[in-house]
Amino acid sequence: MLNDIEATLEGQRVVVVGGGVFGTMHALFALARGASVVHLERDLVPSGATVRNFGLIWVSGRAVGRELSLALRARALWEDVACEVPDIGFRANGSITLIDDERELEVAHRAMARGDADDRQFEMLTAQEVTVRNPALQGRFSAGLYCGRDAAVESRVALGALRTYMENGRRYEYLAGHELVGVTDHAVIDHRGVHYGGDHVVLCLGATLSGFAAELFEDDPLRKVRLNMAETEPLEGTLTTSVANGDSFRYYPGFSEIAREVLEEQPSPAADYAIQLLCQQRLHGGLTIGDTHEPEVPGLFETLDRPMDIIEDAARRLIGKALPRIERRWSGVYHQLVDPTPNQIYFRKQIAGGVSAVTGAGGRGMTLAPAIAEESFQ
Ligand SMILES: Cc1cc2nc3c(=O)[nH]c(=O)nc-3n(C[C@H](O)[C@H](O)[C@H](O)COP(=O)(O)OP(=O)(O)OC[C@H]3O[C@@H](n4cnc5c(N)ncnc54)[C@H](O)[C@@H]3O)c2cc1C
Repeated sequence: MLNDIEATLEGQRVVVVGGGVFGTMHALFALARGASVVHLERDLVPSGATVRNFGLIWVSGRAVGRELSLALRARALWEDVACEVPDIGFRANGSITLIDDERELEVAHRAMARGDADDRQFEMLTAQEVTVRNPALQGRFSAGLYCGRDAAVESRVALGALRTYMENGRRYEYLAGHELVGVTDHAVIDHRGVHYGGDHVVLCLGATLSGFAAELFEDDPLRKVRLNMAETEPLEGTLTTSVANGDSFRYYPGFSEIAREVLEEQPSPAADYAIQLLCQQRLHGGLTIGDTHEPEVPGLFETLDRPMDIIEDAARRLIGKALPRIERRWSGVYHQLVDPTPNQIYFRKQIAGGVSAVTGAGGRGMTLAPAIAEESFQ
């Protein structure tokens, strides 16, 4: 696929700043269009939202309209990229959202009745059908909503795999340890005062919390949201799909309108942390589980145990046995549009002549990144 893209940037130079999934996908698509690319990253190893996420390529919860079509395009692009770069760990494993009661079942039925259910490859499963499709799920649930379009990648290794692929060509230069501290028309300036100029410059800085990059977005309609996550030691057995619980209906825009009408209010303290259960088995067998959603507060560095206890309980209930020991916990922050509209799904801003910034996709950034990068160069 990458070789079939029209070389509309042949002979041009593109500068990309930010080594997360946005920056890396922008570098990949600029190269595919024939440009030479200089890629700057502040840290020696990128450690932003991308490497902290579940790696879910999540189509099921996308809002009807442009968000869903962008997600479907991105899902197809992830699959194509995986053909060229298998080490990103893409698997088309689908997902099951497990349903606990009649109200959650009604949300699922109403989502199934929409015209786009086939695009998402939705299927309603009885509890028994759930256990046939995903035998590791032996817990308490009454049905499941299967989404055949959902997929996963290995977020901790994908960026490195993509860089290795790009470094195999001669038009890509990756410069780790270079912090962006200034911008002029068609150029960026790093902390050593070196200017990097290009026909196009794209800043993909994620949810930068301080410094020059944070000030770039100070007056923009973006908020920072912190999520808590954990990962277990390897599970005995294989989760054949990604897994969510019915609370996810409350938070994914593809379901949330229906959920507001049908579901009872989420009880406290789960509601205080906007908790849903998402669970993805890593290729090494451990389970990545989460997540909470809280406004980012300056100076906050701890991860709280109480919300993670609720998430661990939810996972235990669905899997039906004690979880393997939690091996690690972390938190991560993403940038989200304050008021996303059906047509504005992420944030793009012109910073100077030939210099734009892309961020703000919130909890769908891993999913959408290739389609957003494609749009940037179309
Ligand atoms: C815990 C968590 C779970 C999530 N789960 C999912 C999921 O399963 N599926 C999904 O679709 N989305 C998910 N998301 C959202 C997704 O991870 C983000 O939207 C996406 O990773 C954003 O990518 P990014 O490249 O913009 O940001 P980042 O990955 O944060 O990368 C930004 C990079 O820019 C660099 N940078 C910043 N400032 C400078 C500077 N001044 N100079 C040079 N470099 C700089 C940073 O060091 C960083 O490496 C999750 C997010 C979190 C936090």
